[in-house]
Amino acid sequence: MGNFEVPAATLAAITERVGTPVYVYSADMIRARYRALADALAPLRAGIHYAVKANGNQAVITLLAKLGCGADVVSGGELARALAAGVPADRIVFAGVGKTRDEMAAALDAGIHIFNVESEAELEALAEVARAKGVVARLGLRVNPDVDARTHAKITTGKAENKFGVAIERAPAFFARAQALDGVRAIGLSVHIGSQLMELAPYREAYVRLRSMGEHLRAEGYELRLLDLGGGLGIDYDGGDGPRPADYAAMVAEVMMGADFELAVEPGRWLVGTAGVLLTRVIYEKRGAAKRHVIVDAAMNDLIRPTLYEAHHRIEPVAPGAADPLPADVVGPVCETGDYLARDRVLPAMASGDLLLIRDAGAYGAVMASTYNARPLVAEVLVDGDRWAEVRPRQTVEDLIALDRVPDWI
Ligand SMILES: *Cc1c(COP(=O)(O)O)cnc(C)c1O
Repeated sequence: MGNFEVPAATLAAITERVGTPVYVYSADMIRARYRALADALAPLRAGIHYAVKANGNQAVITLLAKLGCGADVVSGGELARALAAGVPADRIVFAGVGKTRDEMAAALDAGIHIFNVESEAELEALAEVARAKGVVARLGLRVNPDVDARTHAKITTGKAENKFGVAIERAPAFFARAQALDGVRAIGLSVHIGSQLMELAPYREAYVRLRSMGEHLRAEGYELRLLDLGGGLGIDYDGGDGPRPADYAAMVAEVMMGADFELAVEPGRWLVGTAGVLLTRVIYEKRGAAKRHVIVDAAMNDLIRPTLYEAHHRIEPVAPGAADPLPADVVGPVCETGDYLARDRVLPAMASGDLLLIRDAGAYGAVMASTYNARPLVAEVLVDGDRWAEVRPRQTVEDLIALDRVPDWI
């Protein structure tokens, strides 16, 4: 589906009016990606629930909700965001290992579709909260299928030692307990084995186990209707195609052939990752004996993926400079050695004020930002053809200071 090219006039207008650093998202690309995935999954009639944690901007959730997409949320905050964006409650699934009773109560009040429960302790708590309200909570059990997603260690979630889900062989005991409890109705199984998966084989392994446990539970007499296949489909940070929805859907169809389960998926990164860029300006260039550093106005607090996951984001000068291409580290102003956005990239000579574009920053970019070093959260912009809007204004230092309170006894 190619790169997101910000139209030149829009880019000039954004940098002039909004400044840098700024995240810029493409509405067209998000729509195109959603439609491509929805088309590929149509024969499977799988529900699509956007994983809000990938990019929780209200404009992004609203855009996807308008296309008919549901939401996968992992906190009470994300639940509130999804509802405020107009996602119908019955298209919301709630995942996460640490749902509090207050979060459960809010989700029950909203009438969400299903809770993906991740432990026996959570099952007991959910049943209590539902009983106190006189309602019945629909739930799926998140199982841990013990497969290696072959992705970065910090985003693999389906190995036995990870904190997520319940070991798949414990599912029958879990369903027995759920059946004995008032206030809950267990109707599904879910998996999510990791993020940024570039191969289909680990999925296949997990889905074969999921189907077989689903069938086993049915044979035991449980009402097992739904298999939630999770998210995790990767994107190619080098600009290639990455795993294709059609191939993913064909694999699912093959694994589920002849089985009669409702299916659901929870894509995050795949829908929005390539649809965003981070624009940053060069502050200085510095040439030392061993290294060339390009110091820019974006930093690890704005985009943490390079230092947290050793992630690779392509970086390009907006105005292709000619002279002197040499390897450089692109770093931010934050006082941390880990504050880099890219290392050893061949870039032309850069002058103060030159613009750089960091690609594929639409997922796990702005949502993971912090205000470390008293750096206000950066602006976010949504481009739609030749229209654009600031969908999050830049925070100011005054906003930051105003968040704190100084007790009068100091
Ligand atoms: C993070 C997450 C997703 C989405 O992962 P992506 O890699 O962005 O597709 C889906 N489901 C659950 C339960 C998650 O925690």
